[in-house]
Amino acid sequence: ATVLVTGASGFIAVWVVKTLLDKGFNVRGTVRSSSKGDYLTKLFDSYGEKFTYVIVGDVSHEGAFDEAVKGVDAVIHTASPVSGNAHDPDELIRPAVDGTLNALKSVKKHGGSVRRVVITSSVVALMEPKNQFPAVYTETDWNNFVIEDVKTKGATADDKSKYCASKTLAERAAWDFVKDNTAGINFDIATILPSYVPAPAQLNYSTKFFFDAMQGEGLPQSKASAPFGDYVDVRDVAEMHVRALTEEAAGGERFICSGGVLSWQDVYDTLNSVEPPVPNVPRGHPGRTQPHPAICNADKARRFFGFEFTSLQKMAADTLRSLREREVVW
Ligand code: NDP
Repeated sequence: ATVLVTGASGFIAVWVVKTLLDKGFNVRGTVRSSSKGDYLTKLFDSYGEKFTYVIVGDVSHEGAFDEAVKGVDAVIHTASPVSGNAHDPDELIRPAVDGTLNALKSVKKHGGSVRRVVITSSVVALMEPKNQFPAVYTETDWNNFVIEDVKTKGATADDKSKYCASKTLAERAAWDFVKDNTAGINFDIATILPSYVPAPAQLNYSTKFFFDAMQGEGLPQSKASAPFGDYVDVRDVAEMHVRALTEEAAGGERFICSGGVLSWQDVYDTLNSVEPPVPNVPRGHPGRTQPHPAICNADKARRFFGFEFTSLQKMAADTLRSLREREVVW
């Protein structure tokens, strides 16, 4: 079977592609430039002809995926803007929403063999502020607050809110599309809602999180016990996308993909327990963390897929090993 992965050069998508290839799927990735496509071809060289790419420019252009979806059996749509410095919220919202709708419209028109589309949403699409401590979130929640907030504040809304609104509106648009087109489509959708994803093997923003701690940086010690938020291993995110594709009953479902909550102190404690030790990691106050105000409950995915999330200990150890192998750190 062949799976189309949109935004294949993205951090999460690369892991989705790798997971698919490891499980024997053929993958067609969409990228914005041939240089990114060639980079991926080299990266997945060992899988031979099983990985191919097509160039799809801006996903917000109507019909963007018309050619790309032809002949594939399923689609994983990850492409969405993540850069946090848009002035006009529409710079994020339009590509997020229209990109998602264009993927679904192209499948409807030209993807006759597609049975499922898995869409990368985010926990920010459901983390609406609540008057509870801790606020616990499940798949029944929607972040309606942030949509109104960004509508009211426009360009003055903060960057995080603009991104959160783009993810909420994009996921909602997908579910509305399916509801409005039940008669005319032969596929269903599932959405994956990852929490924050630190990376085990690339020195991007997310790995910087561990990297800073290894350099003795990070938060001031006095604040190290403060809650940082939910996190999940990128390999779990990729695995869940593929499971949502292959398990029949996942159609029509949303899945929170979150390994748990952490504070910087947890990161310090974890890094301080690896062998051989990393010299500069702050000690903080070992074991001392404050209660988390917000928790994303991933029990549905645990039950549904029998899913086990990777621990912070394993993530940190693997990140460190990867950085050491490439001599980024000692
Ligand atoms: P990346 O920036 O690495 O990946 C984003 C991908 O989307 C890139 O391939 C990018 O292409 C593509 N893209 C963005 N805007 C457009 C556009 N207008 N037209 C075409 N392609 C576009 O980020 P992530 O891997 O982190 O994000 C992937 C998905 O996961 C996103 O939907 C994001 O919202 C979601 N997510 C991420 C989390 C995280 O912590 N990282 C947490 C929860 C959800 P190009 O490479 O050419 O820029």
